[in-house]
Amino acid sequence: MGKKGGSKEDGNIQTFLRIRPSKKASGYFKIAELESKSLTFALPDNYNSGDGRGDYINNTKLRHDFHFNDIIPDDSKQDEVFKKVGMAAVQNALDGFNSTIFAYGQTGSGKTFTITGGPERYADRGIIPRSISMIFNEFRKRTNVQCKAFISYLEIYNDQGYDLLDPSHETKALEDLPKVSILEDEHGNFHLKNLSMNPAESEEDALNLLFMGDTNRAIAETPMNMASSRSHCIFTVAMEVRENGSDKIRRSKLHLVDLAGSERIGKTDSQGSVRTEAKYINSSLFFLEMVIVALYEKSTKGRTHIPYRNSMMTSVLRDSLGGNCKTIMIATINPEMEHTDESLSTCRFAQRVSLIKNRAMINEDLDPSMVIRRLKQEILTLREEIAFLKGDAGEGDILTPGEIEKLKIQCKDYVEDPDPRGLLNIGSMTLTKIK
Ligand code: ADP
Ligand code: MG
Repeated sequence: MGKKGGSKEDGNIQTFLRIRPSKKASGYFKIAELESKSLTFALPDNYNSGDGRGDYINNTKLRHDFHFNDIIPDDSKQDEVFKKVGMAAVQNALDGFNSTIFAYGQTGSGKTFTITGGPERYADRGIIPRSISMIFNEFRKRTNVQCKAFISYLEIYNDQGYDLLDPSHETKALEDLPKVSILEDEHGNFHLKNLSMNPAESEEDALNLLFMGDTNRAIAETPMNMASSRSHCIFTVAMEVRENGSDKIRRSKLHLVDLAGSERIGKTDSQGSVRTEAKYINSSLFFLEMVIVALYEKSTKGRTHIPYRNSMMTSVLRDSLGGNCKTIMIATINPEMEHTDESLSTCRFAQRVSLIKNRAMINEDLDPSMVIRRLKQEILTLREEIAFLKGDAGEGDILTPGEIEKLKIQCKDYVEDPDPRGLLNIGSMTLTKIK
């Protein structure tokens, strides 16, 4: 089925910065007073990378300005974050656009708190449970459409995918979960093999799936040191929306992504002190950065090849990055002094991401089963009309008592049929008899 997107919308990836609360914030940066959209780092003259990476003070630029679509200050509550960032993303998905929110930042900066939420208080629910709630509320409001939601939850660790929604056996380690792999078809589209798509009829169903996935995520991570900071988790709600009686079906996906920690390790030269280059601990984040750079060069220098295939994460998120998707990045930073270098590199990365343009379109397909149903009905009607026109309309125009009874039952069944696509099939009755 070809995509029949009615409207296409170009737009840059939106970037938001969230600063997590801390009692020992460095005070090195401030949010511009008049407009809450830029963050200025003013490092002290004696600023020295606080993590013992060595002395490179002479090369250090002391003032840095970064611009975002919005900045979420450290005292923001989760419901405000959802209003600022989550609601628009969910609305886009409900309107038929693919939509992605991904959180990027060093370990401990608040990615999981933002995407999933804190475990203790109901008010700390993150973007995933709030999105689920909004989706099913909207579904309930729309009486003229049929809506379906399917949920998947993928964890990628060491470039291997795992299905977090596997209820079939007890999980004790990541290796117990079904392995998910990625396949590329002849059109260059990626497909996930072995990732379950679980129907959710209600908010409760969807929250149970989230809970199951998070439990598997927690169990699987315990025996493996650092796994939670080194893996990516992608929670996806796939939606199908169809207006009653229409052949057309809109399919969209909402991806909510908690990336691996973006911290880097410093490389030291042979003397062991001077940092020459910092490297990501997680190699797929390095590939993500390559993809972002390539996408930028695509728009500025006409570069054609984008190296999505280098990692599973960039392959899975291909549409979210530079494709058919409306995408939002939430950069999370820890305001403490010793994390200044990481905060700076997170902000720098967000600046590069904000230059990427996507082209989202409404994903509308014809549903073959609906088309066949409608055509069959049309053929039936036409056959009856032909029979009538040819004059072989039967013995006469009078219905027998038996036929009347049968018709009554058929009409009653039709009226009581809860399926809006139900048909009134009156079989061999001729049009004259019906009249
Ligand atoms: P990450 O997923 O980036 O490694 P987490 O989301 O796990 O970081 O956050 C680390 C810790 O800080 C957690 O205990 C979390 O509950 C807490 N935390 C993070 N952001 C906030 C916030 N905005 N408000 C309150 N607590 C937060
Ligand atoms: Mg986390």
